[in-house]
Amino acid sequence: MIILRTVEALRACLKETEGYSRSSGFVPTMGALHEGHLSLIVQSKAENRYCISSVFVNPTQFNDPSDFDKYPVTISDDIKKLEEAGCDILFLPSVKEMYPAGTSGLETYALGNLETRLEGFYRPNHFQGVCQVVYRLLKAVQPSTLYLGQKDFQQVMVIRKMIELVGLAVEVKILPTMREANGLAMSSRNLRLSVLERRQASAIYQELQMIKDQVDSVSPRKLEELARQQLLDAGFSSVDYVAIVQPHDLAPVENYTPGMPAVALVAAYMGDVRLIDNMIL
Ligand code: AMP
Repeated sequence: MIILRTVEALRACLKETEGYSRSSGFVPTMGALHEGHLSLIVQSKAENRYCISSVFVNPTQFNDPSDFDKYPVTISDDIKKLEEAGCDILFLPSVKEMYPAGTSGLETYALGNLETRLEGFYRPNHFQGVCQVVYRLLKAVQPSTLYLGQKDFQQVMVIRKMIELVGLAVEVKILPTMREANGLAMSSRNLRLSVLERRQASAIYQELQMIKDQVDSVSPRKLEELARQQLLDAGFSSVDYVAIVQPHDLAPVENYTPGMPAVALVAAYMGDVRLIDNMIL
């Protein structure tokens, strides 16, 4: 695996890479890699001639500076894992490289409801930061396909919207959420949970399953309330939201009818660790 740290070096390398623009899969990450990230790498490699990944903890998407400071960094492990999973090129830029003119006064994107609802409401400016970095990464990497995890459902919707807004020619593929044996969605933030907390945190998955099982017969608002209460009972310290929404604009589903597109999303705190998950209903 080749490791490159500057856009210039990356562009020079990719220009010389035979067939790159036709068949290259890109997996952007913030590192602290787990099986969820690696499933994207493996799929990207299986479907393309070249697999490129990036590890960059993007400061502009952290609305809470202490969350940024506490974000786990395990770069030498990450490099080993990427190599084993078949990644060809790792882009490992510095903050200065990604934001040469600094991180204030950056471009903004007209994301509409996608940035005011759910994660957008609880994390102001988070999705602007996500778009700022993903746009820069896509311009630098110029892959034919971008691989994203369904784990960050709203992020997928936002990135698709940004790609449409700026008119980038890249296909987007969304892969399923990888989970621990107890159902807990794999996340870099799980590294900050104790053994007991990891066990308790599986309640998110159980509540999503409960919603999926009962959505035919119980109203969405009642299910959201029930799930919220059961998360608190299971040991979550607070719940930002449990929401049953339409996938395209994240507006609440008022009356669920079988077969209609709907997704349930959760964000909740286990101690001071904020976890998110979702399930298509
Ligand atoms: P992150 O490092 O958290 O920015 O995630 C990088 C990519 O990995 C994003 O597209 C995530 O949606 C995806 N991802 C994170 N966790 C999982 C998971 N448990 N299963 C599948 N994909 C995931």
